[in-house]
Amino acid sequence: MTRIVIAIGGNAILNPAKGSPEEAQKKIDMTCAEIATIIENGYEVVLTHGNGPQIGNILAMQEECGLVHPQPLDVCGAQTQGMLGYSLQQSLDNRLKERGINKRVTTVLTQVIVDESSPSFENPTKPIGLYYQNFRAQEMTALGIRMIKDTHGYRRVVPSPEPVQIIEEETIKKLVSDGFIVIAAGGGGIPVIRKNGLLTGVEAVIDKDLTGSLLAASVGAELLLILTDVDKVSLNYGKDNQTDLDKMTTREAEEYIKEGHFGKGSMEPKVRSGMNFVKSGGKYAIITSLEKALPALVGTAGTRIIR
Ligand code: ADP
Ligand code: MG
Repeated sequence: MTRIVIAIGGNAILNPAKGSPEEAQKKIDMTCAEIATIIENGYEVVLTHGNGPQIGNILAMQEECGLVHPQPLDVCGAQTQGMLGYSLQQSLDNRLKERGINKRVTTVLTQVIVDESSPSFENPTKPIGLYYQNFRAQEMTALGIRMIKDTHGYRRVVPSPEPVQIIEEETIKKLVSDGFIVIAAGGGGIPVIRKNGLLTGVEAVIDKDLTGSLLAASVGAELLLILTDVDKVSLNYGKDNQTDLDKMTTREAEEYIKEGHFGKGSMEPKVRSGMNFVKSGGKYAIITSLEKALPALVGTAGTRIIR
């Protein structure tokens, strides 16, 4: 069986603009139906997911409530692993049952050691959560929250250090070997560091695409499949001369990154993730949409990153 890590975007689960629970459930069911088909086709799946919209919602609830102590970001991240893990685990279990596939799904609450020397701790640049108007942004700044302004308004920025090691690696591998479908490292993982040998959470978020490649390497996956909302990676994205790529080598990918073809907080981490995975011994990585996942696996869709 081909072992594969599938990384799905937070936006594939919840569109924050129309984020009713019913809407989210529908999206999750669609996503899990697709993943069930992949499992039906004989792949051994480890699933990971983003949490951008979800952690944004938790922060918004905390900020607007004012009655309870806000929780630190590692705890918020853990909450999103729980809520999304629950939804995905239940929905995927149901989809498998419908098809008569006798496999169980389980979620592993996953801590990920981050690079303590990352410049992002001094200089946070990862925007998360809601957009705020100027007056509210000033109130938040006064509370010590770092905010930046972009075209849509003000947003909180937080450190996003590089993931270094998955603490629950052995647990995940054991479960996969025992035949479980594992959901792990949700939202990029709960960011932790070691202090005097002991684990402790840090105020940060981790890029789920980068953790995806670490997870794929850790569980010895052959393939890393990154599912997002575009069918292929493009050069000159959004311009008249846009060219969609069927494949790129790690060297080409490096060049394209230098030339600035990929969105910094969106496509670039996916391409880097694919490169990291292939460089660490993975066969190849694929970036595509949920709808194109199956054809991409047989090589007729998506963008492949190869050695
Ligand atoms: P996810 O929630 O799956 O992580 P992102 O929004 O972070 O999704 O990343 C996917 C987005 O990257 C696409 O919707 C697209 O707008 C954007 N993007 C930026 N550069 C490119 C590129 N060169 N080719 C394709 N998509 C790109
Ligand atoms: Mg993203």
